[in-house]
Amino acid sequence: MAQVVVIGNIASDETLAVEAFPAPGASVAGEAISEALGGKGANQAIVMARALQGVAGVRLVAAIGQDRRGAKLRTDLEAEPLTADLIRRALPSDLSVILRDASRENAIITTQSCARSLTPQEAIAALGTAEVLVLQGNLRAETSLAVLQAAAAQGVLRVLNPSPVEGCSAEMLAHCDLLVVNEGEAAYFGGAEQLSAGKTLVRTLGAAGAELWREGRRIAAVPGRAAQVLDPTGAGDCFLGALVAAMLRRGARAVAASDLTLATWAAGICVSRLATQNAFPTAEEFRAAFAA
Ligand code: ATP
Repeated sequence: MAQVVVIGNIASDETLAVEAFPAPGASVAGEAISEALGGKGANQAIVMARALQGVAGVRLVAAIGQDRRGAKLRTDLEAEPLTADLIRRALPSDLSVILRDASRENAIITTQSCARSLTPQEAIAALGTAEVLVLQGNLRAETSLAVLQAAAAQGVLRVLNPSPVEGCSAEMLAHCDLLVVNEGEAAYFGGAEQLSAGKTLVRTLGAAGAELWREGRRIAAVPGRAAQVLDPTGAGDCFLGALVAAMLRRGARAVAASDLTLATWAAGICVSRLATQNAFPTAEEFRAAFAA
Protein backbone atom coordinates (compact mmCIF):
# COMPACT_ATOMS: atom_id res chain seq x y z
CA MET A 1 0.00 0.00 0.00
CA ALA A 2 1.40 3.41 -0.97
CA GLN A 3 2.37 5.68 1.89
CA VAL A 4 1.73 9.43 2.11
CA VAL A 5 3.32 11.54 4.85
CA VAL A 6 2.08 15.01 5.78
CA ILE A 7 4.60 16.92 7.89
CA GLY A 8 2.85 20.04 9.13
CA ASN A 9 0.79 21.61 11.87
CA ILE A 10 -2.18 20.66 13.99
CA ALA A 11 -4.09 23.38 15.81
CA SER A 12 -7.19 23.99 17.85
CA ASP A 13 -9.56 26.23 15.84
CA GLU A 14 -11.51 28.33 18.34
CA THR A 15 -14.28 30.46 16.84
CA LEU A 16 -15.81 33.47 18.59
CA ALA A 17 -18.75 35.41 17.16
CA VAL A 18 -18.65 39.19 17.58
CA GLU A 19 -20.97 41.88 16.28
CA ALA A 20 -17.99 43.85 14.89
CA PHE A 21 -14.22 43.36 15.15
CA PRO A 22 -12.77 45.28 18.14
CA ALA A 23 -10.90 48.51 17.38
CA PRO A 24 -7.45 48.90 19.00
CA GLY A 25 -7.88 49.38 22.75
CA ALA A 26 -11.57 48.34 22.69
CA SER A 27 -13.15 45.43 24.53
CA VAL A 28 -16.22 43.82 22.92
CA ALA A 29 -18.62 41.07 23.98
CA GLY A 30 -18.47 37.81 22.02
CA GLU A 31 -19.91 34.32 22.00
CA ALA A 32 -17.83 31.13 21.96
CA ILE A 33 -19.11 29.17 18.95
CA SER A 34 -16.84 26.14 18.60
CA GLU A 35 -13.52 24.51 19.42
CA ALA A 36 -12.47 22.12 16.68
CA LEU A 37 -9.51 20.28 15.24
CA GLY A 38 -7.71 22.33 12.60
CA GLY A 39 -4.34 23.31 11.15
CA LYS A 40 -3.56 22.97 7.45
CA GLY A 41 -1.39 19.87 7.95
CA ALA A 42 -4.05 18.04 9.95
CA ASN A 43 -6.86 19.12 7.60
CA GLN A 44 -5.07 17.92 4.46
CA ALA A 45 -4.07 14.63 6.11
CA ILE A 46 -7.66 13.96 7.23
CA VAL A 47 -9.08 14.55 3.75
CA MET A 48 -6.45 12.33 2.11
CA ALA A 49 -6.94 9.60 4.71
CA ARG A 50 -10.71 9.55 4.16
CA ALA A 51 -10.31 9.58 0.38
CA LEU A 52 -7.59 6.90 0.36
CA GLN A 53 -8.96 4.57 3.05
CA GLY A 54 -8.10 0.99 2.07
CA VAL A 55 -5.98 2.18 -0.88
CA ALA A 56 -3.03 4.03 0.67
CA GLY A 57 -1.82 4.83 4.18
CA VAL A 58 -1.65 8.44 5.39
CA ARG A 59 0.60 9.52 8.27
CA LEU A 60 0.45 12.94 9.92
CA VAL A 61 3.63 14.15 11.64
CA ALA A 62 3.10 17.25 13.79
CA ALA A 63 4.31 18.73 17.08
CA ILE A 64 1.76 19.14 19.86
CA GLY A 65 1.76 20.52 23.42
CA GLN A 66 1.14 18.47 26.55
CA ASP A 67 -1.86 20.56 27.53
CA ARG A 68 -5.66 20.37 27.50
CA ARG A 69 -5.82 21.45 23.84
CA GLY A 70 -3.22 18.86 22.84
CA ALA A 71 -5.15 16.09 24.59
CA LYS A 72 -8.38 17.08 22.81
CA LEU A 73 -6.68 17.26 19.40
CA ARG A 74 -5.19 13.81 19.98
CA THR A 75 -8.63 12.39 20.84
CA ASP A 76 -10.32 14.07 17.84
CA LEU A 77 -7.72 12.57 15.48
CA GLU A 78 -8.49 9.05 16.73
CA ALA A 79 -11.73 9.15 14.76
CA GLU A 80 -9.80 9.52 11.47
CA PRO A 81 -8.37 6.66 9.36
CA LEU A 82 -4.76 7.89 9.59
CA THR A 83 -1.61 7.27 11.60
CA ALA A 84 -0.83 10.23 13.88
CA ASP A 85 2.83 10.69 14.82
CA LEU A 86 2.39 13.55 17.29
CA ILE A 87 5.67 14.83 18.73
CA ARG A 88 5.21 16.05 22.31
CA ARG A 89 6.58 19.48 23.21
CA ALA A 90 6.77 21.44 26.46
CA LEU A 91 5.02 24.31 24.61
CA PRO A 92 1.41 25.45 24.31
CA SER A 93 -0.40 23.54 21.53
CA ASP A 94 -0.90 25.63 18.41
CA LEU A 95 -4.14 27.55 18.26
CA SER A 96 -6.19 29.62 15.81
CA VAL A 97 -8.54 32.21 17.27
CA ILE A 98 -11.17 32.93 14.63
CA LEU A 99 -13.23 36.09 15.15
CA ARG A 100 -16.39 36.04 13.05
CA ASP A 101 -18.38 39.27 12.70
CA ALA A 102 -22.06 39.70 11.96
CA SER A 103 -21.44 39.66 8.17
CA ARG A 104 -19.59 36.27 8.59
CA GLU A 105 -16.24 37.86 7.75
CA ASN A 106 -13.35 36.17 9.63
CA ALA A 107 -10.26 37.68 11.30
CA ILE A 108 -7.82 34.96 12.37
CA ILE A 109 -4.84 34.83 14.75
CA THR A 110 -2.72 31.66 14.51
CA THR A 111 0.11 30.55 16.79
CA GLN A 112 2.91 28.40 15.36
CA SER A 113 5.17 27.62 18.37
CA CYS A 114 4.79 23.85 18.07
CA ALA A 115 4.93 23.73 14.25
CA ARG A 116 8.04 25.88 14.19
CA SER A 117 9.74 23.73 16.84
CA LEU A 118 10.11 20.81 14.41
CA THR A 119 13.80 20.45 13.52
CA PRO A 120 15.21 19.52 10.09
CA GLN A 121 16.52 16.25 11.62
CA GLU A 122 13.08 15.32 12.98
CA ALA A 123 11.40 16.13 9.67
CA ILE A 124 13.89 14.08 7.64
CA ALA A 125 13.54 11.13 10.04
CA ALA A 126 9.74 11.43 9.69
CA LEU A 127 9.95 10.71 5.95
CA GLY A 128 10.42 7.02 6.68
CA THR A 129 9.48 4.96 3.61
CA ALA A 130 6.87 7.41 2.31
CA GLU A 131 6.39 7.68 -1.45
CA VAL A 132 4.60 11.02 -1.29
CA LEU A 133 5.39 14.04 0.93
CA VAL A 134 2.87 16.82 1.49
CA LEU A 135 4.05 20.11 3.07
CA GLN A 136 2.55 23.52 3.85
CA GLY A 137 4.10 26.77 5.09
CA ASN A 138 3.78 26.39 8.86
CA LEU A 139 7.18 24.79 9.60
CA ARG A 140 10.37 26.85 9.63
CA ALA A 141 11.50 27.34 6.00
CA GLU A 142 14.84 25.76 6.95
CA THR A 143 13.05 22.58 8.10
CA SER A 144 10.83 22.43 5.02
CA LEU A 145 13.75 22.91 2.65
CA ALA A 146 15.82 20.19 4.37
CA VAL A 147 13.01 17.63 4.17
CA LEU A 148 12.23 18.55 0.53
CA GLN A 149 15.88 18.01 -0.39
CA ALA A 150 16.01 14.67 1.47
CA ALA A 151 12.76 13.59 -0.20
CA ALA A 152 14.16 14.50 -3.63
CA ALA A 153 17.24 12.35 -2.99
CA GLN A 154 14.95 9.41 -2.07
CA GLY A 155 12.72 9.79 -5.15
CA VAL A 156 9.71 10.84 -3.04
CA LEU A 157 6.99 12.80 -4.87
CA ARG A 158 6.90 16.28 -3.26
CA VAL A 159 3.67 18.28 -2.99
CA LEU A 160 3.76 21.81 -1.56
CA ASN A 161 0.95 24.15 -0.58
CA PRO A 162 2.93 27.36 0.13
CA SER A 163 0.54 28.72 2.73
CA PRO A 164 1.11 30.82 4.73
CA VAL A 165 3.50 32.37 2.20
CA GLU A 166 5.73 33.81 4.96
CA GLY A 167 6.88 30.27 5.79
CA CYS A 168 8.00 29.53 2.22
CA SER A 169 10.95 30.47 0.05
CA ALA A 170 11.52 30.40 -3.72
CA GLU A 171 14.08 27.64 -3.10
CA MET A 172 11.42 25.49 -1.42
CA LEU A 173 9.10 25.95 -4.39
CA ALA A 174 11.88 24.93 -6.75
CA HIS A 175 12.25 21.63 -4.88
CA CYS A 176 8.75 20.30 -5.37
CA ASP A 177 6.95 18.33 -8.11
CA LEU A 178 3.43 19.64 -7.56
CA LEU A 179 2.46 23.10 -6.27
CA VAL A 180 -1.09 23.84 -5.16
CA VAL A 181 -1.77 27.57 -4.69
CA ASN A 182 -4.71 29.93 -4.43
CA GLU A 183 -4.83 33.16 -6.45
CA GLY A 184 -3.06 35.24 -3.78
CA GLU A 185 -0.24 32.73 -3.34
CA ALA A 186 0.22 32.42 -7.12
CA ALA A 187 0.53 36.21 -7.45
CA TYR A 188 2.88 36.45 -4.44
CA PHE A 189 5.33 33.99 -6.00
CA GLY A 190 5.37 35.53 -9.50
CA GLY A 191 2.31 34.14 -11.29
CA ALA A 192 1.16 30.77 -12.61
CA GLU A 193 3.16 30.89 -15.83
CA GLN A 194 6.47 31.37 -14.04
CA LEU A 195 5.62 29.03 -11.16
CA SER A 196 4.73 26.13 -13.43
CA ALA A 197 8.07 26.13 -15.26
CA GLY A 198 9.55 22.66 -14.74
CA LYS A 199 6.65 21.40 -12.64
CA THR A 200 2.90 20.95 -12.32
CA LEU A 201 0.91 23.78 -10.75
CA VAL A 202 -2.71 23.75 -9.67
CA ARG A 203 -4.19 27.19 -9.02
CA THR A 204 -7.50 27.35 -7.16
CA LEU A 205 -9.86 30.22 -7.97
CA GLY A 206 -12.50 30.10 -5.21
CA ALA A 207 -16.02 29.85 -6.64
CA ALA A 208 -14.56 29.86 -10.17
CA GLY A 209 -12.90 26.44 -9.65
CA ALA A 210 -9.30 25.56 -10.50
CA GLU A 211 -6.72 25.44 -13.27
CA LEU A 212 -3.99 22.96 -14.15
CA TRP A 213 -0.70 24.40 -15.43
CA ARG A 214 2.38 22.58 -16.71
CA GLU A 215 5.61 23.99 -18.14
CA GLY A 216 4.31 27.57 -18.23
CA ARG A 217 1.02 26.69 -19.99
CA ARG A 218 -2.53 26.34 -18.72
CA ILE A 219 -3.67 22.91 -19.88
CA ALA A 220 -7.06 22.52 -18.17
CA ALA A 221 -9.66 24.50 -16.23
CA VAL A 222 -12.49 23.07 -14.13
CA PRO A 223 -15.42 25.22 -12.88
CA GLY A 224 -16.32 25.34 -9.18
CA ARG A 225 -19.39 23.46 -8.01
CA ALA A 226 -21.30 23.95 -4.79
CA ALA A 227 -25.01 23.46 -4.10
CA GLN A 228 -24.85 26.35 -1.61
CA VAL A 229 -22.10 28.32 0.11
CA LEU A 230 -22.37 28.25 3.91
CA ASP A 231 -18.77 28.30 5.17
CA PRO A 232 -15.65 28.33 2.94
CA THR A 233 -13.29 27.49 5.87
CA GLY A 234 -10.95 24.66 4.92
CA ALA A 235 -12.01 24.53 1.24
CA GLY A 236 -8.42 24.89 0.05
CA ASP A 237 -7.22 22.06 2.31
CA CYS A 238 -10.12 19.87 1.24
CA PHE A 239 -9.33 20.57 -2.42
CA LEU A 240 -5.65 19.66 -2.02
CA GLY A 241 -6.32 16.46 -0.07
CA ALA A 242 -8.87 15.25 -2.59
CA LEU A 243 -6.64 16.21 -5.54
CA VAL A 244 -3.64 14.20 -4.31
CA ALA A 245 -5.88 11.27 -3.35
CA ALA A 246 -7.51 11.21 -6.80
CA MET A 247 -4.08 11.16 -8.46
CA LEU A 248 -2.86 8.32 -6.22
CA ARG A 249 -6.06 6.31 -6.73
CA ARG A 250 -5.26 6.34 -10.47
CA GLY A 251 -1.81 4.97 -9.63
CA ALA A 252 -0.31 8.14 -11.15
CA ARG A 253 2.44 10.52 -10.06
CA ALA A 254 1.16 13.48 -12.10
CA VAL A 255 -2.15 15.33 -11.73
CA ALA A 256 -4.73 15.08 -14.53
CA ALA A 257 -7.82 17.23 -15.25
CA SER A 258 -10.06 14.45 -13.83
CA ASP A 259 -8.33 14.89 -10.46
CA LEU A 260 -9.30 18.58 -10.47
CA THR A 261 -12.91 17.56 -11.16
CA LEU A 262 -12.92 15.26 -8.11
CA ALA A 263 -11.21 17.94 -5.98
CA THR A 264 -13.74 20.66 -6.94
CA TRP A 265 -16.54 18.22 -6.03
CA ALA A 266 -14.98 17.63 -2.58
CA ALA A 267 -14.31 21.36 -1.98
CA GLY A 268 -17.88 22.12 -3.14
CA ILE A 269 -19.19 19.78 -0.41
CA CYS A 270 -16.90 21.47 2.13
CA VAL A 271 -18.16 25.01 1.42
CA SER A 272 -21.78 23.85 1.57
CA ARG A 273 -21.45 22.67 5.21
CA LEU A 274 -20.61 24.48 8.45
CA ALA A 275 -17.26 23.90 10.25
CA THR A 276 -14.11 22.25 8.88
CA GLN A 277 -13.45 18.61 9.83
CA ASN A 278 -17.22 17.96 9.87
CA ALA A 279 -17.58 19.69 6.50
CA PHE A 280 -15.11 17.47 4.61
CA PRO A 281 -16.66 14.58 2.66
CA THR A 282 -16.74 11.38 4.73
CA ALA A 283 -14.84 8.22 3.74
CA GLU A 284 -18.18 6.76 2.51
CA GLU A 285 -18.86 9.83 0.35
CA PHE A 286 -15.38 9.58 -1.15
CA ARG A 287 -15.83 5.86 -1.85
CA ALA A 288 -19.12 6.54 -3.65
CA ALA A 289 -17.59 9.43 -5.63
CA PHE A 290 -14.63 7.32 -6.78
CA ALA A 291 -16.93 4.39 -7.64
CA ALA A 292 -18.99 6.75 -9.80
P1 ATP B 1 -9.49 28.64 2.06
O1 ATP B 1 -8.35 29.49 2.54
O2 ATP B 1 -10.85 29.27 2.23
O3 ATP B 1 -9.45 27.25 2.57
P2 ATP B 1 -8.15 28.90 -0.49
O4 ATP B 1 -8.01 30.39 -0.55
O5 ATP B 1 -6.93 28.10 -0.18
O6 ATP B 1 -9.34 28.49 0.48
P3 ATP B 1 -9.90 28.83 -2.80
O7 ATP B 1 -9.36 29.04 -4.16
O8 ATP B 1 -10.69 29.95 -2.19
O9 ATP B 1 -8.70 28.34 -1.86
O10 ATP B 1 -10.86 27.55 -2.79
C1 ATP B 1 -10.36 26.24 -3.00
C2 ATP B 1 -11.41 25.46 -3.79
O11 ATP B 1 -12.62 25.40 -3.02
C3 ATP B 1 -11.81 26.07 -5.12
O12 ATP B 1 -10.94 25.63 -6.16
C4 ATP B 1 -13.22 25.55 -5.29
O13 ATP B 1 -13.20 24.23 -5.81
C5 ATP B 1 -13.74 25.49 -3.86
N1 ATP B 1 -14.49 26.71 -3.52
C6 ATP B 1 -14.07 27.74 -2.75
N2 ATP B 1 -15.04 28.68 -2.64
C7 ATP B 1 -16.10 28.23 -3.36
C8 ATP B 1 -17.41 28.74 -3.65
N3 ATP B 1 -17.83 29.92 -3.16
N4 ATP B 1 -18.23 28.00 -4.43
C9 ATP B 1 -17.82 26.80 -4.93
N5 ATP B 1 -16.60 26.25 -4.69
C10 ATP B 1 -15.76 26.97 -3.92
